[in-house]
Amino acid sequence: MADLRELYQEMIVDHGRRPRNFGPLPDANRHAEGFNPLCGDRITLHLRTRDGVIEDVRFEGAGCAISTASASLMSEALKGRSEDEAAALFAGFHALVTGQGGGDGVPLGKLTALAGITEFPVRVKCATLAWHTLMAALQGETEPVSTES
Ligand code: ZN
Repeated sequence: MADLRELYQEMIVDHGRRPRNFGPLPDANRHAEGFNPLCGDRITLHLRTRDGVIEDVRFEGAGCAISTASASLMSEALKGRSEDEAAALFAGFHALVTGQGGGDGVPLGKLTALAGITEFPVRVKCATLAWHTLMAALQGETEPVSTES
């Protein structure tokens, strides 16, 4: 178990330092902004969707290592998913990081690297910021979302 934990920590550090899918997405058709006032994390998420499928994902912004790693892992998990699958992943991930179970049978893959965050309640919002922003983008919200609203 200790080895698995170390592996997970390495993955978070790696994604925090070298986020995947970071940058603008010129042909994006959906965008949303998110803010976590507790930590100061900001994210702008860009999605390209077609026929209910997320074809591409990029994000920009500045935040702590956890929020950056979470957004990076999320961006990898979303490509090729339907919007329904993305919503199910969010529900599963949210349950995981808030200590409410392992995701109702939704395979979370690498996202489980953030399971240890349950031990640090103040950081849970860092980990979920990208996901709240994702849901706002899919729902066509135009106002920036805050983890405190
Ligand atoms: Zn943070």
